[in-house]
Amino acid sequence: MIKTDIAILGAGASGLFLASFLNEKDYLLIDHNQIPLKLKVSGGGKCNFTNEFVSPENYLGDKELIKKVLDNFSNRDVLRFFRDIKNKKIKNNQYFASSSNEIIKKLNKKKFLAEILSVEKDDNFIVHTSKGDVKANKVVVATGGISYKKLGATDIGYKIAKHFGHSVTAPLPALVGLSLQKEQFWMKNLSGISLKAKIEVEDKLFFDNILFSHRGITGPAVLNTSLYWKKGKIKCDFLPEYDIKKSNKTISNALPLPKRFIVEFLKAHNLKDMPINHSHKAINLLKNYLFAPAGNFGFDKAEVTKGGVDTDELDNLESKFVKNLFFIGEVVNITGELGGYNLQWCFSSAKYIEHSKNFAY
Ligand SMILES: Cc1cc2nc3c(=O)[nH]c(=O)nc-3n(C[C@H](O)[C@H](O)[C@H](O)COP(=O)(O)OP(=O)(O)OC[C@H]3O[C@@H](n4cnc5c(N)ncnc54)[C@H](O)[C@@H]3O)c2cc1C
Repeated sequence: MIKTDIAILGAGASGLFLASFLNEKDYLLIDHNQIPLKLKVSGGGKCNFTNEFVSPENYLGDKELIKKVLDNFSNRDVLRFFRDIKNKKIKNNQYFASSSNEIIKKLNKKKFLAEILSVEKDDNFIVHTSKGDVKANKVVVATGGISYKKLGATDIGYKIAKHFGHSVTAPLPALVGLSLQKEQFWMKNLSGISLKAKIEVEDKLFFDNILFSHRGITGPAVLNTSLYWKKGKIKCDFLPEYDIKKSNKTISNALPLPKRFIVEFLKAHNLKDMPINHSHKAINLLKNYLFAPAGNFGFDKAEVTKGGVDTDELDNLESKFVKNLFFIGEVVNITGELGGYNLQWCFSSAKYIEHSKNFAY
């Protein structure tokens, strides 16, 4: 049987980041993948690893805990950590590497390649894997969420949490496209078109691109909307920067919207392409388009999983029920918006437990 002080379950963003602060002889990273695949595909292969502005307001979950964790290791600290990565780019306040391989090269570590099956505790923890048992004094669950199964995601983290008596908030797809009800099927005819819009969802407002697709709507504004949407209606302003002036020009000539969008919109709502002066109904509808999405594109397309191990039952990310059992990264019930917030959470939560006095030996 392999013996280690710290068994880190999952060698993705959070597990690898934690390992980078530890002495190699003190931990064992266990993963069934050789490469951290989510990290590899993140940010379209360029890994949006943090944001210029990070606050608890960019996250869904326990704001007090998020603040503590971010205060302990902020976006500035992440930038400092990755300072030797060349050709970083900042776009819309998001920091990207020129390739996610650069981030992986900096973080990657030797790992024990095996499927994690379960964890038990006697005097020590025993991690059962497909390649035998691992005995450890501490266990860190860093096995991520369940979206993108094809990249190696499993629900093992939730299973381990439940086994030790923890509650797990139902996992749901987030940062994902939204599907449409019949009344909005006209949008499906706009596949490939994108435009800038404002979307209001719950008490959040996102001003960014919407991309129409044959399945529904996606793009940054929609992905962020999916994080906060809980059924019910959302409000779209398709003319967020349009200052309504009196004009005899027709809608299709005067409005700053793609022609195809206007044609489909007017057709779907039995409206005519009239001069702006006589188009109050159409303009009002375009500025306050209320509708309820049908659902979302599902876990296969979701960048993250919202829900996860309940933070009420964690004390500084350590289990309140089982000493020396920690949870970090996406497996925890804290989810960030689009823009580097999820990787920031992974890095900050990993650093947080490394820093906590309970983790010290
Ligand atoms: C397409 C896509 C793009 C994204 N882009 C961004 C972005 O640009 N910026 C951003 O901030 N976030 C982005 N994210 C989200 C971000 O990648 C994740 O939130 C982050 O990687 C989660 O890190 P983690 O360490 O919690 O889990 P993961 O990185 O998912 O790591 C978990 C590890 O556990 C392993 N594992 C799971 N189950 C088992 C098992 N049973 N046995 C053995 N090993 C197991 C997995 O192989 C994996 O290596 C993106 C996600 C996706 C899918």
